Amino acid sequence: MPYRLNKGVFMVRCRQPGCPFNVHLEIADNIMGMTEADVDTEARKTARDMAQVRHDSLHGRHHQLHNPEVRMTSGTIQLTGAGPVQGTEHQAPSQVREFGKGDLIVREGEAATTVCEVLKGVAVPVKNEHHKYTRGDCFGVSSLLPKHRRLTDVVAGQDRTAIAFYDLTELRKTDPGKAGKLFSILIEDTLKLVAERVPS
Ligand SMILES: [Zn+2]
Repeated sequence: MPYRLNKGVFMVRCRQPGCPFNVHLEIADNIMGMTEADVDTEARKTARDMAQVRHDSLHGRHHQLHNPEVRMTSGTIQLTGAGPVQGTEHQAPSQVREFGKGDLIVREGEAATTVCEVLKGVAVPVKNEHHKYTRGDCFGVSSLLPKHRRLTDVVAGQDRTAIAFYDLTELRKTDPGKAGKLFSILIEDTLKLVAERVPS
């Protein structure tokens, strides 16, 4: 779960005409998700549920919380790898890092030990620039073989590109389902690359 809510405060306003209900709620729950959007959706739902209880205790006799406006007014959704992390959810065999546009994600020739999954943004292999990787795509097939080296530089194609680096051997022990999925994506991508190079 690479993303989490940090000190999120949400404004919830009832849209029933004439209703004065408008509150700011701090979400104390530790909300985490695979993407920023997942965390946002979950946090809004939590804020809405909290507001509903409060609204209905005040105005419930007259009407239900009506089509509420829900907006984050302070706080951030951040990568758990960035900055100090509280809690104990730090044992996953993966590391998430964020890159600015043009930053090197992996370097050609360096030891390939991890599989890379794009969580956000774009990753571009320098040797094959039209073969871009976006959210959900994986690269780093050379890491599946022992003692292999990266086949190309891969750079971030836009700011705030987030990449998860997985040690597949470790991941197989802790989350075989995820490891199998990453493996399949890598092989599919490799077959696609081969097909692109075969003249038709
Ligand atoms: Zn109301």
